[in-house]
Amino acid sequence: MTETAHHAVPTNKRPDTDLSCTWVPSSNFTARRPETDPPRQPDILILHYTAMTSAERALYWLTTPESNVSCHYLIAEDGEIFQMVREADRAWQAGLSSWQGDTDINSASIGIEIANGGPMNPNPEFPPSQMHAVRDLSADICKRNHIPASRVLAHSDIAPGRKTDPGPFFDWEWLAREGVGFWPASWPSKGDPTDIRTCQQQLADIGYQIEVTGIWDVQTRTVVSAFQLHWRREKHDGVLDSETASRLADVWGGLAAVS
Ligand SMILES: [Zn+2]
Repeated sequence: MTETAHHAVPTNKRPDTDLSCTWVPSSNFTARRPETDPPRQPDILILHYTAMTSAERALYWLTTPESNVSCHYLIAEDGEIFQMVREADRAWQAGLSSWQGDTDINSASIGIEIANGGPMNPNPEFPPSQMHAVRDLSADICKRNHIPASRVLAHSDIAPGRKTDPGPFFDWEWLAREGVGFWPASWPSKGDPTDIRTCQQQLADIGYQIEVTGIWDVQTRTVVSAFQLHWRREKHDGVLDSETASRLADVWGGLAAVS
């Protein structure tokens, strides 16, 4: 998908957050759609990793016109925060994606890129100083924009099969215990992995793009793998085992209870 900026630079020259943050404007954005006055209010937070060798390289790539990609924020390995696109504007971070039937996730969301080389990197872990900044910035964004815990998502959640970030080393449980995003208090359910139709329906209800067919197919394996990356990251092989089916029932039930 090719994007074209309709204006060159943002009008404000300071970050939206009161946290320590450096403003490095990107040229890669448009207004949120549909274009309304006041602008459409974002109600999803998307977390990414950069899969690049350094935060400096990512900052260059996310701001240069030639890349046609951007994000609202970047968090360096040491926890330093940069903002590149105003929260009111539509950054180009999600790409082809879907959540709860909405396919223009760029217009619905705010994005944070977390500097990390990805799982093939020699140091795939997210350092504590960086995770603390992820927590603080995410909490601040969600509070100011009234984004519910149920809508703090991974890029892999909205683009199964195409994206795997922020990947299996990202600790969603810790983040939720620190007050950002949803995580079940316990795992009491016994799910049935042979009931494909129910599992597909639960995945669809949570928000994943999946067709409820009642049969085990390629799309189901892909979405199960995306579910596991968020909710059972120790093993994200796309196999619908009994633990995955049980966790699916708990996430489904838990999200239904909070929303
Ligand atoms: Zn991403």
